[in-house]
Amino acid sequence: MAQKDPDATSASASQEGNRVFIKSFGCQMNVYDADRMSDLFAAEGYSSSQDEASADIVVLNTCHIREKAAEKVFSDLGRLRDLKTEKRKSGQDLKIVVAGCVAQAEGKEIIRRQPAVDVVIGPQNYHRLVDLLKTNDKKTDTEYPVENKFDHLPLPKTRRSVAAFVTIQEGCDKFCSFCVVPYTRGAEISRPVQSILDEILALREAGVSEVTLIGQNVNNYQGADRQGAVRSLAGLIEAIATLGGIKRIRYTTSHPRDMHDDLLEAHRDVPQLMPYIHLPVQSGSDRILSAMNRGHGRRDYMKLIEKIRRMRPDVAFSSDFIVGFPGETEQDFEDTLGLVREVNFASAFSFMYSPRPGTRAAEMPEQVEAESMRERLARLQRLLDDQRMVFNRSLIGSVTEILIEKEGRHAGQLIGKTPFLQAVHFNAAKDMIGRLVDVEILELTSNSLAGRIHDPQASATERSA
Ligand code: SF4
Repeated sequence: MAQKDPDATSASASQEGNRVFIKSFGCQMNVYDADRMSDLFAAEGYSSSQDEASADIVVLNTCHIREKAAEKVFSDLGRLRDLKTEKRKSGQDLKIVVAGCVAQAEGKEIIRRQPAVDVVIGPQNYHRLVDLLKTNDKKTDTEYPVENKFDHLPLPKTRRSVAAFVTIQEGCDKFCSFCVVPYTRGAEISRPVQSILDEILALREAGVSEVTLIGQNVNNYQGADRQGAVRSLAGLIEAIATLGGIKRIRYTTSHPRDMHDDLLEAHRDVPQLMPYIHLPVQSGSDRILSAMNRGHGRRDYMKLIEKIRRMRPDVAFSSDFIVGFPGETEQDFEDTLGLVREVNFASAFSFMYSPRPGTRAAEMPEQVEAESMRERLARLQRLLDDQRMVFNRSLIGSVTEILIEKEGRHAGQLIGKTPFLQAVHFNAAKDMIGRLVDVEILELTSNSLAGRIHDPQASATERSA
């Protein structure tokens, strides 16, 4: 697996002073992985760099969901090869690492096509990254490891933000016909309960107040607890809620097939669990949902929405939509618009379909013309934007609980989030960051809400979760 780099210099054996720049693309899973890689480097004495030019090691943490993902990575790598050549002229070295889903999918091909790359490492293997960099050998490490990477990663020590992501589950067994995740992230695995709780306790110690539990199929979480019993996502959420100090709990991304009753009950019973659910549906047409291999129909989705609303009436929904899936007719698209009108989403992500190599949908006949896709996407986004604005406006005049996250752009301004993930800005003292306060919502600006602290006296005293 290892091959010697004929151009390698003797640099980089020493860890002291090595500066690392991690460039991350894609989803929250990659944001989380990049943070954990940073923790790993910091624990080994590396420092972080603000840009590629001043770095000794550059990690591209890649995403395969991006259109023409591999080609974009090779274009980035061409630029880094030139930087490496420049640095060598002045006696410096630059190690280039490709991590993430493109690394997993392309493996050795990356070093074959771009020999300037030093290490190719998959999402399940990055706990071994520092060791791989200590040699001058070219390495590809994309085999699924026997050991659990979480057992080998240092616990986070510093707070990057009041809110943190925590990976609890990885991989996917659902094989939606348009998606590469089952091929790049592998089969579903759930992290053990105690490993997650330990990380959350470390985050709490560092000052984190909100955790978002992440996974490709997060609501199919089935992790073992200390007694060896399997806990569902609801069981894990209850365990986190009883730790104390974690004021808000969220999770994403869910599959409609895995919204089990105990999770719905947790939304009713666990006050820290936010009433905001991202529940991708992708299409409102049964014909298209079947071609997508989603494993549920339109009626199943609508019944689920109603059931959740019965359990927790104030819940807000967001979703993902793919427009122009192969074979999508105007009627199929109308069915999607109809579903959107019925559900009334607080927010949503919508994209034009684009084929991903290796997926079943990429081979399907009847690919929809780009012009039709563009036109449908514009119609869908107009409707979703209207719904988002109506939802945001509905908060004006209300007093809403806000978790204060950071300073705003203007002096004296702070920014926090509502339970429904809307950003709200208002004036308050900087030392209130991390607290839950009541804010009276006054107006809606283009991307956020503006308000004022409802009771400055009361808000000076931090509330418990
Ligand atoms: S459930 Fe999500 S991650 Fe899994 S195959 Fe479908 S779209 Fe991809």
